[in-house]
Amino acid sequence: MAELEGLEFGKSDFVLLDEVNMEQFMENLKLRFEKARIYTFIGEVVVSVNPYKQMDIYGKEAIDAYRGRELYENPPHLYAVADAAYKAMKRRAKDTCIVISGESGAGKTEASKYIMQYIAAITNPSQRAEVESVKNVLLKSNCVLEAFGNAKTNRNDNSSRFGKYMDINFNFNGDPTGGHINNYLLEKRDIQEGAASTTSNNDRSSHRAVLSALQVIGFSKEEIDSIYRILGTILILGNLQFETDSESVQVVGSEAVSHIAGLTTTEPDNVTKSLLYRTVATGGGEVIEKGHTEKEACFGRDAFAKALYERLFCWIVARINAVIEVKDYNPVLHGKNTVIGVLDIYGFEIFDNNSFEQFCINYCNEKLQQLFIELILRQEQDEYQREGITWRHIDYFNNQIIVDLVEQPHKGIISVLDEACLTVGKVTDTICLESMDAKLGQHPHYTSRKLTPSDKTMEFHRDFRIRHYAGDVTYSVEGFLDKNKDPLFQDFKRLMYNSSNPVLKEMWPDGQLSITEVTKRPLTAATLFKNSIVALVDKLGCKEPYYVRCIKPNEMKSPVLFDDARCQHQVAYLGLLENVRVRRAGFAYRQPYARFLQRYKMTCEYTWPNHLMETDREAVEAIVTQHGFQDDVAYGHTKLFVRTPRSLFTLEQERAAL
Ligand code: ATP
Ligand code: MG
Repeated sequence: MAELEGLEFGKSDFVLLDEVNMEQFMENLKLRFEKARIYTFIGEVVVSVNPYKQMDIYGKEAIDAYRGRELYENPPHLYAVADAAYKAMKRRAKDTCIVISGESGAGKTEASKYIMQYIAAITNPSQRAEVESVKNVLLKSNCVLEAFGNAKTNRNDNSSRFGKYMDINFNFNGDPTGGHINNYLLEKRDIQEGAASTTSNNDRSSHRAVLSALQVIGFSKEEIDSIYRILGTILILGNLQFETDSESVQVVGSEAVSHIAGLTTTEPDNVTKSLLYRTVATGGGEVIEKGHTEKEACFGRDAFAKALYERLFCWIVARINAVIEVKDYNPVLHGKNTVIGVLDIYGFEIFDNNSFEQFCINYCNEKLQQLFIELILRQEQDEYQREGITWRHIDYFNNQIIVDLVEQPHKGIISVLDEACLTVGKVTDTICLESMDAKLGQHPHYTSRKLTPSDKTMEFHRDFRIRHYAGDVTYSVEGFLDKNKDPLFQDFKRLMYNSSNPVLKEMWPDGQLSITEVTKRPLTAATLFKNSIVALVDKLGCKEPYYVRCIKPNEMKSPVLFDDARCQHQVAYLGLLENVRVRRAGFAYRQPYARFLQRYKMTCEYTWPNHLMETDREAVEAIVTQHGFQDDVAYGHTKLFVRTPRSLFTLEQERAAL
């Protein structure tokens, strides 16, 4: 067992703070960061601070130290949480999930990879080939998804531009049998819109790694070739220009069109046509071709490039899913199929300019906070009730009211947005905002700028403010409607569907619809996102949750700088103090009597060398009383409940000293 930490490294569990307040919390967090202790518990939750340097804490020795151990037996670590989730899954056949949250650059994706590597390392001891192959594909999928879904941003050199939830399936032996990936809201920037420059010497080897990962996963030569063709098309679209001469719009130069036609195996004439015209159905049912203005053509081109990218990404995810999907699983023969889910999803975002994407992301965080409240409280209450322990209810802010503000049918922001998108005629962002004000102006968590008399921006009524659980965010409504609608002309979909490349065709099934068949009321982006988040929350809600809360220590990517104000802000909006309070009000640890006895019997004269008691419970009572912490525990029907981890640390130290 690894050495337990000394006090010079601070408190390894925030529950042990002398007083629960922000000052003490921050002091402890900072001390631990400075002493290179990047992980700290709040009970079963791990708080992680990005070290911005390689740490020697993820090797085989560490893995062995955490394997099969209880949380408090080792210093805080991601591995402790991964192991707890795995044990619950294996011993109690529970579906579990690990929710990793924090802002951009806080270390979520790195944490999710360490967790997956840990699970891979502790499973399949007999090295069965088929299980090894599943594990290999699961691990390699990270490399592929990062290559296509991550980008350098101002805040993180390797920022995930999508949310990811991965289920790992296990058989009754506790070995991985497959998995499933869900991706959420891939960011699609406008072409050449302020992309951060990259200067990496490793591009060549990273590229080789991606290619090899694609091959290991099982992408065929044709599929890989198609991926490159699509990427090529996106790049060419980025350079494609239009010009207007004598009233008609043209593509500048002829090479771009023939190049795109070549890459997508379509006819050059059809490519030109899709870029310059759109097919519309008139009121009388007639179908006509309408020429674009130059502005419309540019809009169409950009929407096409974004859609190509998004469909490619979703297709890659679906393709990986087809490989890792659990096949031929027979519950009668193989026992219950259990799952560990790992969620690596964008944290709460407040930028200088917040748009539709931040609105969606922050809504997602409201939903996850709601889940946190629901699960943590519900689980605690269930367990105390089952074990016959009295529970003292603790109050904290319930953010359901904000969730409703966003998602309530007919009244919420999403519904107002959707209504505006589906209204025929010219509805501008500003008109939409006005109707939001009319419906929501009185809501305590919504502020309309127009309704604020002192506001100087009154005449430029372009934003609204939501009081989120994590803080106030002002959203600029500009572009909301366009981003909420499917902006892609059907002509592009048809062009791609008619490609003679089967991979491309497969990505565009909706291209087979003629203009008169296209549904009049497609689901909007916000509604699709809402539906996917509701489904995600449902999925997580029926699992036993474990949490990793990531904190970014500074904006400079520095391993030595702890920016107090930035960190404190994150601690506040992650609700970590509330978390400690809830944890302290209840019991931090619980343990079946037999297991407790097994571990600590040698620390008490009544249980060592001989067990003199009639029942395990009595023996445990003897240990507790001998060490004088009877006020710190409660006795349940089958388990001992310990209020603070202090008692367990004392026992651990005594045990280690023997
Ligand atoms: P985003 O939301 O932008 O995707 P993120 O929370 O996923 O951000 P990561 O990409 O995991 O952030 O981490 C950002 C960078 O911080 C990593 O590329 C790495 O350099 C560093 N980092 C994060 N965690 C660790 C760690 N445990 N050890 C060493 N470096 C780390
Ligand atoms: Mg990430």
